[in-house]
Amino acid sequence: MDCRSDEELFQLVQESKVHTAEGKVADYIPALAQADPDSLAVAMAFPDGSCYSAGDVNKKSTLQSISKVIALALALLDNGEEYVFQRVGMEPTGDPFNSIIKLETTEPHKPLNPMINAGALAVTSMIKGDSVEERLGRIIHLTELITGVEGIGYNKEVAMSELQTADLNRSLAYYLKQYHVIEENVETVIELYTKQCAIEMNCSDLAKIGLTLAMDGKHPLTGETLLPPRVASICKTFMVTCGMYNASGEFAIRVGIPAKSGVAGGIMAAVPYRCGIGIFGPALDERGNSIAGWDLMERLSKKYDLSMF
Ligand code: GLU
Repeated sequence: MDCRSDEELFQLVQESKVHTAEGKVADYIPALAQADPDSLAVAMAFPDGSCYSAGDVNKKSTLQSISKVIALALALLDNGEEYVFQRVGMEPTGDPFNSIIKLETTEPHKPLNPMINAGALAVTSMIKGDSVEERLGRIIHLTELITGVEGIGYNKEVAMSELQTADLNRSLAYYLKQYHVIEENVETVIELYTKQCAIEMNCSDLAKIGLTLAMDGKHPLTGETLLPPRVASICKTFMVTCGMYNASGEFAIRVGIPAKSGVAGGIMAAVPYRCGIGIFGPALDERGNSIAGWDLMERLSKKYDLSMF
């Protein structure tokens, strides 16, 4: 599925792009600070196999928190719903994605949902395999399956940069280990999690993840089941309630599309039965969402009447 550049999308990107100046690229992971704050690209993938784009659509970026959706899908496939939700909850937190506060104040001490870092670390630790390489390979394989793209890899420089600076995530993981939510060695889960977050792709591949979720896990053309419908449904529901950090409620009101963002500036969105959307715009707002990407999602939702509510 090749993406064709589209004039209407180009106009919308131009209108949203002015907002990049109001944001800042993430710099707590040093390698992410090198991103170009002015860039903005979008792709929309449709069930008939067509794909339309605007901006620097071939530029690759790391998934960061968007990978939490894929890891959740794999953990559900590996362990089943009951096991996963004994260890991680289903409720939004209203706190920043890397906050530790509710881990301490909530009884039992399990993360409130799989989209915050604490929950994502717990989920990643549930992914089966004998080594980090094998487990990462399984996450990448699932990513290739749901995008239909081969040769997906991870950015070693970004992964290493995060690994060297992930002390807050280490704190969360140690906390969870104390309460037996995580059983394995903390360094092992941190290594797997940072590599998973550094999986990279362009925004048309991101749109294809969204499309598969939008189609309840089915390949839009062949009808092949890439993800069981229940797994796709759980992922989309978390995208609505917790996908845009502690701005998910506002996003649901303003945009009304299940979406997940990441601190590299990605937004992956699934418009049920209609299309998948992928955006990369590295300048972030104060809650960690792509500032121009958010604006673009609002414009797309209004122009094409995409809100599901
Ligand atoms: N790897 C990042 C972290 O754990 C992902 C955060 C995000 O994209 O929200 O800090």
